[in-house]
Amino acid sequence: MANKDAKHKSNIAGGWYCTDPDDENGEGCIACNVCYTGAPDFFGEDEDGNAYIKKQPESAEDVELCQEQLDACPVNSIGSDG
Ligand code: SF4
Repeated sequence: MANKDAKHKSNIAGGWYCTDPDDENGEGCIACNVCYTGAPDFFGEDEDGNAYIKKQPESAEDVELCQEQLDACPVNSIGSDG
């Protein structure tokens, strides 16, 4: 799971989050653009290209879409247990 102690400061409150690129566990976002390209309603991009959650998914369909991004993230920087 992504590091709950290294959340990006722009995540909107809720269970889903992205981790900061400075995550000491080495699982921070590397700005690969997968998530905010795949689910732009839920994942935003900061000025450095790093991702954060801009809207929490609620419906089963939205959760499924966000889960696909979590599974696709190459560095384990998306969490749903926050
Ligand atoms: S998929 Fe992961 S590494 Fe890529 S932009 Fe999103 S959070 Fe960052």
